[in-house]
Amino acid sequence: MIVVLTGGTGGAKFVDGLRRLVPPEELTVIVNTGDDHEWWGLYVSPDVDSITYVLADILSSERGWGVRGDTFHCLQAMKDLGEPAWFSVGDRDLATHLLRTKLLSKGQTLSDATSYIAEKLGVRSRILPMSEMRVETRIDTPAGDLSFEEYFVKRWYQDPVNSVRFAGASEAEPAPEVLEAIASAQAVLIAPSNPVTSIGPILAVPGICGALETTQAKVVAVSPIIGNAAVSGPAANLMIAQGLQVSIAGIAEAYRDFLDVLIADDSDSASAQSLSSGGLQVHCTNILMRSSDDKTRIARAALTLACPEILAESAMGNQ
Ligand code: GDP
Repeated sequence: MIVVLTGGTGGAKFVDGLRRLVPPEELTVIVNTGDDHEWWGLYVSPDVDSITYVLADILSSERGWGVRGDTFHCLQAMKDLGEPAWFSVGDRDLATHLLRTKLLSKGQTLSDATSYIAEKLGVRSRILPMSEMRVETRIDTPAGDLSFEEYFVKRWYQDPVNSVRFAGASEAEPAPEVLEAIASAQAVLIAPSNPVTSIGPILAVPGICGALETTQAKVVAVSPIIGNAAVSGPAANLMIAQGLQVSIAGIAEAYRDFLDVLIADDSDSASAQSLSSGGLQVHCTNILMRSSDDKTRIARAALTLACPEILAESAMGNQ
């Protein structure tokens, strides 16, 4: 069993590579829910949706979120009615939010609603929200205390960041199966997701860090940082706000309690050498995921470093 910890965009690209290499039943994806928010009265779970869509092979790869080829008639109609429209919801995507909200209102848990929707979309891998309890990423800025989506989507992550907190995390519990999945994994992979607002909330749920420290599986992370910048998005500013260097050293620091191997870009080989002399295994390759081949190549590198037998077993199964 392969376990992946992930957020939405960068994480979905990596999961897209993994799904081409391993049988779906062998993949468990633990997903950030710190960005979940209410929109038009509906419960939206952006990272869970991106991972569900990529595993169902319906994610829009141009946008990196939402359903491929979706239309936006409802969004326009809501705008015409004077409702907020800064969070883009496609029409097919809306169906997911409607169904999830219906299932939750009937008393289903977020895990149950997630697996129900995934199954209906033909997903055979296991998708686990990090927790069924509300953990909300809050970004403190000079303009006020913002939810992640307000900071990221509404305000285009232009605000300076004072600090980041995960409201509700200390009282939260991991969702069912999360700790067992990590404990019994053959490989644990940390996607090239934002270390502060995608992986950070997962690690803030009590028990998850401990499970990563004690699992027998190797923990391998792919860096979302190349040189001194994020490949995309606000990770750099958020890392600075959390006192982390914007570099592969900062990523190693964020995951220091459990990380066995870091996959970094070829252009970071000098920093990789100094991290290696400190005892961390660092593997350098081209970590930009532009094409399907890139995604598969990086996923293969991560699996090979974590547990080469997995690929050998999958290859045998495919014969
Ligand atoms: P979010 O929930 O939408 O913020 O998605 P993630 O946290 O999963 O992904 C955002 C992170 O992915 C950013 O920090 C980017 O630097 C990283 N990222 C995006 N594309 C790539 C890529 O092609 N390669 C690598 N290594 N990182 C990437």
